[in-house]
Amino acid sequence: MSEGNSSVLEELAQLLGENGIRQQPDDYLPEVVLKPETTEQVSGILKICSAAGQPLIPIGGKTGLVSGHVRTGDELGLSMERMNAIEEIDVTNRTMTVQAGCILQVAAEAAQEKDLLLPLDLGARGTATVGGNVSTNAGGNMVIRYGMTRDMVLGLEVVLADGTIINSLNKMLKNNTGYDIKQWFIGAEGTLGVVTRVVLRLRPHPRSQNIAFVAVDSFTNVQGLLHHLDSRAGGSLSAFEVLWPEFYDYITREESTHRPPLPHGSPYYVLVETQGSDESGDAEKFETILEEAMEAGLVSDAVLTRSQSERNALWEIRDDVLAFFNLGFFVPFDVSVTLDKMEDFVRDIRAAMKQHEDPICVIFGHLGDCNLHVFLGSRNVETFDSDAVEELCYSTVERYQGSISAEHGIGIAKREKLACSRSPEEIALMATMKKTLDPGNILNPNKLLPEAFT
Ligand code: ZN
Repeated sequence: MSEGNSSVLEELAQLLGENGIRQQPDDYLPEVVLKPETTEQVSGILKICSAAGQPLIPIGGKTGLVSGHVRTGDELGLSMERMNAIEEIDVTNRTMTVQAGCILQVAAEAAQEKDLLLPLDLGARGTATVGGNVSTNAGGNMVIRYGMTRDMVLGLEVVLADGTIINSLNKMLKNNTGYDIKQWFIGAEGTLGVVTRVVLRLRPHPRSQNIAFVAVDSFTNVQGLLHHLDSRAGGSLSAFEVLWPEFYDYITREESTHRPPLPHGSPYYVLVETQGSDESGDAEKFETILEEAMEAGLVSDAVLTRSQSERNALWEIRDDVLAFFNLGFFVPFDVSVTLDKMEDFVRDIRAAMKQHEDPICVIFGHLGDCNLHVFLGSRNVETFDSDAVEELCYSTVERYQGSISAEHGIGIAKREKLACSRSPEEIALMATMKKTLDPGNILNPNKLLPEAFT
């Protein structure tokens, strides 16, 4: 730590008190972490740091997958862990106001206690924070029905790089009073401001959940099934998760703890879920819709679940992504490609991977959201070439005009690939926003924008 830094630290220690700063020697994370308790303290921190040109990394649950919270130099950490309160659940307006450090699962459970749904759910729910979810515009398992984080944020409180507090804690669904300021900070990965409080839109808690696991014999029929369910389920379709056979066969192989609900050998498997408000009526309707799909030839085989344990078992197959880490060495990609181009995209990726030695090519995704997760690599560390699979994946995404990040963000991991999915004019406009809101480049520098633009 340089001398300049030590006087900054003294000022910060005075502002935050003894319990407000933590030191943690670490190769990747900030070694000094600030832990404000109030928005005013966040503002004070930013005033001190912007005057001194001291960079900061806003920190949530550190569950992001693109190294957005990893340090690149002598950045200080700005952890929201002590600003974790649920300030209000407004049952009349169906909103909740939480501080940025509130754990997602804690917020979701508090909403559920009021018989309301916070419709954001993802694997890291027990560690991820709402502020982090906002800053990364997190996706997850219910996007097809409720949208991404962006779609459930009604208002924000944000502190700008110079310490200015922007109170934009709107609760109304409609508010067309000029620029929608909150959108600038959602998905900005902490590069434009520090999110301190969030107003979230809540929904009625669903009363019924129906799940089926189906086999489909062509991609045309996968598309047809999605459209059939979308139009017949009256807006209640809450998941459409497609597993390619490399995923399904491995997860339900003989030595695995997961039982295969359907025989191996189908080119596509789909986990389908609806959530509704009428327990008995919904189950009947769901069955009818699936029968129609079978009669139309969209589905070649299906199992319907009867019990909660069966439902859980099906979701566990979809969610057991960690099992692949025993398979070998791979890069986990998170990309989007429109539905009409997806079959060709997958075909090209698979064909290219066949040229590799001991290839790993596992594909699954939230198909209703155009989002694929693609694991590309090798079973053998000697033949694993991460640069080669990155080049393959991103160039193929670019060729099909897809997105190199569907729901994980850019961070450090993808900043130099941004141009695969964004035009030079778009990136230049982003850089202009960054320079305007953070002229000293102190907020999460070296993230999101390519180096040439910072
Ligand atoms: Zn996902």
